[in-house]
Amino acid sequence: MKIAFIGLGNMGAPMARNLLKAGHHLHLFDLDTNALAELAAQGGHIKDSARHAAQGSDLVITMLPAAAHVGSAFLGENGILAGIATGTPALDCSTIDPQSIRDIATIAASQGVVVGDAPVSGGTAGANAATLTFMVGGSVQHYERVKPVLAQMGRNIVHCGEVGTGQIAKLCNNLLLGISMIGVSEAMALGHALGIDTQVLAGVINSSTGSCWSSQSYNPWPGIVETAPASRGYTGGFAADLMLKDLGLATEAARLAHQPVLLGALAQQLFQAMSQRGEGGRDFSAIIESYLSRH
Ligand code: NAD
Repeated sequence: MKIAFIGLGNMGAPMARNLLKAGHHLHLFDLDTNALAELAAQGGHIKDSARHAAQGSDLVITMLPAAAHVGSAFLGENGILAGIATGTPALDCSTIDPQSIRDIATIAASQGVVVGDAPVSGGTAGANAATLTFMVGGSVQHYERVKPVLAQMGRNIVHCGEVGTGQIAKLCNNLLLGISMIGVSEAMALGHALGIDTQVLAGVINSSTGSCWSSQSYNPWPGIVETAPASRGYTGGFAADLMLKDLGLATEAARLAHQPVLLGALAQQLFQAMSQRGEGGRDFSAIIESYLSRH
């Protein structure tokens, strides 16, 4: 299949690599020429705009930082909609707000192009290992068309509903993740301050009702989970600034829906303070240091 892949950063590059491995012909576009050169060396074909990447493609995939980038990649003068053929499906895998992708899909529909959303969970490790979870928003027909390609980059391909619902699922999940990581941090720091061995405490939590992914697989206390960022100086995981971005999207979506997100707003402020301290590039589980005496 001829696939246009636009946005070859930390996530997009390994995802595109997995599509090359699966035997697809890739049209590549990114503003970063180094990112393009790296993928071209592995068999991809460089295009000089999103428009040219989309031309002649059977499917267009974008993996870009934020809504403004997705908007310009689709709607810009040299954007996807200027090059894509009527009837060709397109899929945005970036994490953005639900309304932006709905607006783009509405404009695309007026020229006979179906745009869906498919944000991912699993991070760069999941992107490399092709084990991502895709949360897909769009019609059932669109989902069935894109599913086989997504299955070459991920393990769980979930149809969430109409366009925008993939982003809703992603925002709700990350809202909960941000809150749960702070909850686990608070409990671990309190236990330590009161004098219990943190290994013992983690073991009790993980076999009790407080257990969750943040305690079991990604515990913020160093040395509890050997593979977690906490055990390697809070590096190589999910940056606090990305969590801050997702909590911002969730709280803004909540504001528009007049829905209270009390703990989510507090979590956003705690990650904002971490970012202000210059620690936004560290893994988000380093939020536990807010509870330790040197802060
Ligand atoms: P990144 O910043 O590493 O990569 C983004 C790429 O897009 C860059 O190569 C940049 O040059 C390119 N780009 C920007 N504007 C462009 C444009 N108009 N046209 C073409 N290329 C353009 O970001 P990332 O870490 O790959 O994340 C991508 C998306 O995935 C984000 O929305 C992020 O929130 C989401 N996400 C990231 C992770 C993660 O662990 N990194 C996990 C899940 C979801």
